[in-house]
Amino acid sequence: MAKIRLFIDHPLALGQGIALSSDQAHYLSSVMRQGPGDEILLFNGRDGEWLARIERLAKRNGEVAPVAQTAPQMNPPDLWLLFAPIKKARTDFIVEKAAEMGAARILPVQTEFTNSERIRQDRLQAHAIEAAEQCGGTYVPEVTDLTPLSRLLDRWDAGRRILWADESRVGPARTLAGLSQGPWAVLIGPEGGFSDSERRRLSGMDCVTPISLGPRILRADTAAVASLALWQSELGDWQRD
Ligand code: SAH
Repeated sequence: MAKIRLFIDHPLALGQGIALSSDQAHYLSSVMRQGPGDEILLFNGRDGEWLARIERLAKRNGEVAPVAQTAPQMNPPDLWLLFAPIKKARTDFIVEKAAEMGAARILPVQTEFTNSERIRQDRLQAHAIEAAEQCGGTYVPEVTDLTPLSRLLDRWDAGRRILWADESRVGPARTLAGLSQGPWAVLIGPEGGFSDSERRRLSGMDCVTPISLGPRILRADTAAVASLALWQSELGDWQRD
């Protein structure tokens, strides 16, 4: 059976006992039926992946000890996902998929046609952690709080280019060949699309490249996964050997 992988916010090195949180101890003992002597995998987003032995385990506390590093730290390329939150379950899906697809940072943005005014940042961050646990990643993208798109663009660093999924370009898609690697962000709009003033503003920014995602209008969650796949395959880590 595949080993259990847990994210743990603690430095990982040989010979260090690490206390489990109450939730982690509960998960390991009551849900996964683990006990002292069993081995699990740990990562903290910085020190790669480690094999660890359960030293002590009770219902609500316990201790694990790293035994050997099993994978080096692997960070994704410098790609951010900017997306307008939609309904709760679909927003959860976007964060989970973005973490799996190797987004380095996930930024929910409030656009003019965004319905939700609040998000639960802590819940979304927990989804990103769970996605990293199950996809074998050693990196956990930060999920930021909801920020107005206009404010983000006011202080945008032009060194980070923006791949703008622009629904008005629905139709034949061109490849990203010719665009160079480096810091990028993908921008996905809400169900209502972008407003005229947002379109004008984005069109006027040199660092913005508008793209079509093909001949059909995709739901925002589909568009997020499609554009991350497109970017990773052309400019990102699908290219690395
Ligand atoms: N209500 C809008 C569609 C919004 S789809 C309309 O009918 O025109 C939600 C978001 O997904 C869009 O803002 C865009 O960022 C992205 N998207 C969906 N389909 C797309 C396509 N074919 N090309 C580019 N972006 C697309």
